[in-house]
Amino acid sequence: MPALDYFREVLETAQRAEELKTGSRPVVGTMCNFVPEALIIAAGAVPVRICAGDHSAALEGEALVPRDICPVCKSTVGTLQRPGGPHGRLDLLVVPAVCDAKKKLPQVLEGQAPVHVMELPVDKQGQGAERRWLDQVRLLAERLEKLTGQRITRQGLRGAIDLINARQNAYRELLALRQENPPRLSGLEALLLANASFTDDVARWTHHARALASERQSAPAPAPGPRLVVTGAPLIYPNLRLVELIESLGAHVVADEMCSGSERLYVPIIPQEWNLPEMLLAVAETALLPTTCPCFSRHDDRLTRIGELVDAYSADGVVYHNLRLCALYQFEATAVRDALAARSVPMLELQTDYTPEDTEQMHTRVQAFLEMLEARAPVPG
Ligand code: SF4
Ligand code: SF4
Repeated sequence: MPALDYFREVLETAQRAEELKTGSRPVVGTMCNFVPEALIIAAGAVPVRICAGDHSAALEGEALVPRDICPVCKSTVGTLQRPGGPHGRLDLLVVPAVCDAKKKLPQVLEGQAPVHVMELPVDKQGQGAERRWLDQVRLLAERLEKLTGQRITRQGLRGAIDLINARQNAYRELLALRQENPPRLSGLEALLLANASFTDDVARWTHHARALASERQSAPAPAPGPRLVVTGAPLIYPNLRLVELIESLGAHVVADEMCSGSERLYVPIIPQEWNLPEMLLAVAETALLPTTCPCFSRHDDRLTRIGELVDAYSADGVVYHNLRLCALYQFEATAVRDALAARSVPMLELQTDYTPEDTEQMHTRVQAFLEMLEARAPVPG
């Protein structure tokens, strides 16, 4: 079977959920990428990211949380109410308090599983921020050890870091295919992979990602088209229609700056030394510092990152994805637009949620943006 089918199977069938449900290791649900997966694995549990993108689950979530919060939170709550959700079962839920909605979610989720909240610094580069975050990571380590009854040892954490780093390396190998012109891995495929990693077994995911990379080395290249970077609020399976739409119109999403995409799988954990305190520090830093989530007060590194992606992937333009009722991304859109305008890179800003009702309108706007990009492309010869 083509290597990509494996990732579709993880997302579309109940197989992985069943495996998690009946497995002997405790399942720890996480939100965002701030919760270090390596720590969970080292404690003998299985991490699953529970952020959801299902529209009907978002409607069901409205029974428990206010209608006027972002669809990620509503859909996550709705999914957790469903028997047989993608995570199988939850023995602990770890929620980073990134925004108002996530600060209040534990009240609602406590009925599903015990909840552990992690506090994030407002400015991740501010004075004492790293030390306070390390304290949060240590508290999480204690909570995990209590849950599993297993100590996080030097050997255990090293093994978990190696496992995560192998996954990150396999993903980076795939990213090289997106730098090609035209790319031999589409934006939709890359997002499917990243979303499958939310729940999948890390070693198995890595094995199949490597198989996909080697399959694509010899695959024919698709037709050329405008190259785009997509940034903004997370696109979470099955709500990947923005990228589907862009690519159905002949453009290529060659890179993304999203916590549900490359940001999740891009950065390896590199301790200064392989002793427990240094590994713990590296795990904590890697979960915090490279993250360009707009929940932090400053956004300079996000602007730099988007510029780097435009250069590294030779992008012609950027599409900025806002989710309705997520003020954080809306706040940053102007700064991103200005930073891109200074480099003469056009940006299309779209605001949507999980409802399919505005697909036609999005189609029209994306098409007009692509026509504009094509009109400004240099005339060959
Ligand atoms: S954008 Fe930030 S707050 Fe929202 S899900 Fe991603 S990491 Fe979490
Ligand atoms: S940061 Fe925005 S998208 Fe993420 S959970 Fe909060 S409101 Fe929702």
